[in-house]
Amino acid sequence: MDRMDCRLTPPPSDRMHALDVDTLKLREEVFDYARRRMNYEPAPLDASRSPEELAALIPPTVTEAGLGGLPALKIFEDVLAPSCISVDNPGFLSFIPAAPTEAATLFDLIVSASSIYGGSWAEGAGAVYAENEVLTWLARETGLPAGAGGVFVQGGTLGNLSALVAARHTARMERERLGEPLPRRWAFACSAEAHSSLKSAARVMDVDIIPVPIGDSGKMRGPDVEETVSDWDGVFAVVATAGTTNFGIVDDLRSVGEVAHTNNAWFHVDGAYGLAGILAPSTRDLFDGVDQADSFIVDPHKWLFAPFDACALVYRNPSLAKAAHTQHAEYLDVLTETGDWNPSDYAYHLSRRPRGLPLWFSLATHGVGAYRDAVESNIQLARQIAAEIERRPGMALVRQPELSNVVFTRDGWSANDYAQWSNDLLRRDIAFVVPSSHLGQPNTRFSIVNPQTTFETLVKILDTMEKI
Ligand SMILES: *Cc1c(COP(=O)(O)O)cnc(C)c1O
Repeated sequence: MDRMDCRLTPPPSDRMHALDVDTLKLREEVFDYARRRMNYEPAPLDASRSPEELAALIPPTVTEAGLGGLPALKIFEDVLAPSCISVDNPGFLSFIPAAPTEAATLFDLIVSASSIYGGSWAEGAGAVYAENEVLTWLARETGLPAGAGGVFVQGGTLGNLSALVAARHTARMERERLGEPLPRRWAFACSAEAHSSLKSAARVMDVDIIPVPIGDSGKMRGPDVEETVSDWDGVFAVVATAGTTNFGIVDDLRSVGEVAHTNNAWFHVDGAYGLAGILAPSTRDLFDGVDQADSFIVDPHKWLFAPFDACALVYRNPSLAKAAHTQHAEYLDVLTETGDWNPSDYAYHLSRRPRGLPLWFSLATHGVGAYRDAVESNIQLARQIAAEIERRPGMALVRQPELSNVVFTRDGWSANDYAQWSNDLLRRDIAFVVPSSHLGQPNTRFSIVNPQTTFETLVKILDTMEKI
């Protein structure tokens, strides 16, 4: 029997779940919109609008009676969607963009249509199995032992927090087991180039950050960590960054991991952006030592070509995370007392969408080799455009790119010059490249994670800097 034949006739009080003519029409219109959006090559960059501009363009949309699906969809397509910058446009080079594959985006539609609860094995076994296959693959790439595993969470911020909570819980349990006193304050160490989410995690957890000084290389190294943490009691983790958000610098994971472990601290690797670089033959060696990690994160929505929002969080020993994170309540006992693998148990969350599935489907479709090639192509392009910047009079690299972020300056430009130039680029639908700064000096930067971005795209942008 076709599933639709057995759809219950909804009670008359429910006008919203009925599969009536209007709903079926709306379904086709929504699919058509998705098709139109995906058919763009590329989607226009578009631009942000102020609340006042938006209020002037559209009527109030949340009303007692509702607008009807088609009018609401039209408002979205005509006004709201074009008021969002298209992150997947090859000229979007700011922050860390996202460039989902067709397969990943398509599967995100399926995840949305499927109403899968991804928090427990009992409810989402098939989805969790597929997500776990991806996490196991990531663990293998980084050299973690069999048994490593974790969960896809919303983003790197939540991934870092969840890993650090597991680390502190483990440290506390260990002290209690040994009958040692707890420290006055808990603390973790990381470099000044580490991501802002770590400061945020420290605030949420009410722990201290021990800043590890780094030299001009921008790389945190073991001896510097050793010197910094040796005077502290209560160091429960050392966090290395595998690809800083600004420059893409990978800390010296081998020596930092060793020092973390000789100090009995958890070694967490924040690879939200950069750890994808381990897939590329030419940068694989930068990640030497990541196999010592007690946990790592990498965001598929950054450089693994998946849609927002997903962070892969992997633990060497998932049972430590489970001990820290499992929520207990009588209404959950039926799930938590089974011994099943429940993704909810491995991070600070409970209900979850199986957000790893778009990446799973794309990997299953294209194979890992296509991912290696795509990441490598971004790295090669970064090197090529870096050489071009060095060659051009009046332009300079702030430093050589290590992965796919290229930070550079135009001689004599003030922050205001960069801002005007940036606005003009977006207005002309050429690119979205925002001004930035390093040590107080203004600059700009290309963050290249889209395989559709070409040398020509980037040269065209450089040309606009010369003509001004
Ligand atoms: C982007 C980033 C994060 C935060 O990830 P979100 O997914 O934006 O929460 C953490 N660490 C690093 C190094 C990042 O680049």
